[in-house]
Amino acid sequence: MTAILSNLQAVRAAIHRAAHAANRNAESVTLLAVSKTFPPSAIREAYAAGQTCFGENYLQEALDKMQALADLPIEWHFIGPIQSNKTRPIAENFSWVHSVDRLKVAERLSEQRPPDLPPLNICLQVNISGEESKSGATPHEVSALAHAISRLPRLKLRGLMAIPAPADDEAAQRKPLSAMRALLQQVNSEGLQLDTLSMGMSHDMAAAILEGSTMVRIGTAIFGIRTRTEKS
Ligand SMILES: *Cc1c(COP(=O)(O)O)cnc(C)c1O
Repeated sequence: MTAILSNLQAVRAAIHRAAHAANRNAESVTLLAVSKTFPPSAIREAYAAGQTCFGENYLQEALDKMQALADLPIEWHFIGPIQSNKTRPIAENFSWVHSVDRLKVAERLSEQRPPDLPPLNICLQVNISGEESKSGATPHEVSALAHAISRLPRLKLRGLMAIPAPADDEAAQRKPLSAMRALLQQVNSEGLQLDTLSMGMSHDMAAAILEGSTMVRIGTAIFGIRTRTEKS
C-alpha cells in the first residue's frame, strides 16, 4: 500500500469519527485534497485511491498540473490568493473558487466564466480571526458581499471559507469555526441558501466537522509535509 493511499484511508476514517461524534452523516463532509507543491504523480496516486476533488493555491502550478492530468475527470478547486488581473484563467479552468474576498474579483470571474461551462461555484473567504496579514472579508462585510455576489449571473455562491489562526487545543480551535457557522446561519436567515462551509485543515479537521464544516481542505495529512512552500 502506498503512503498516499494509506494516508487517504486514515483521513477518511478520521472524517467518519468526527462526523459520528457530531451526530452527522460522514457523507455531508466533502474531502478536498490540497495538492499544492506536489507533482502530478501524487495527484494520480490519490485519484487511483478514489479522490476526485483537488485544491490548488498557485495558478500557474495548477494550470501545469491540469495539462499533465487532462486524461482524468478531476474537479479542480482554486483556494489561493487571487490577483484581480489573473481571474480569467481561474474562471476558465476551475469548478470552484474558495478565496473570493471582494466584489471586484467576483464580478470579473462572473464576466469571464465561459458560457458553455456551468456557473462557477464560489465561497466567500472570511478573515474570521481578524488577522491583519490575512486575506478575507471582515465578518461585518459578509452579509452585503454575499448578497451582491449571489446576484452575479455566471457564479453560484455556495458558502463561506475560512483559514482561522492556528490554535492548539480543540476548544480554542472551535471558537472561530463556530463564528463561521453563525455567519452562515445569519446570511441564510436573510434569504440566501448557502450549503457550504469550507473549513478544516490537517490540524483542525475534527473541530471543523464538529462546527458544521461541509468541506475540509486537507494537504499535509494526505501528501505529507510540504518542503517547497512557494509557487513553482
Ligand atoms: C495549504 C492549504 C490547506 C491545506 O493545509 P494542510 O495543513 O496541509 O492540511 C488548506 N487550505 C488552504 C487555503 C491552504 O492554503
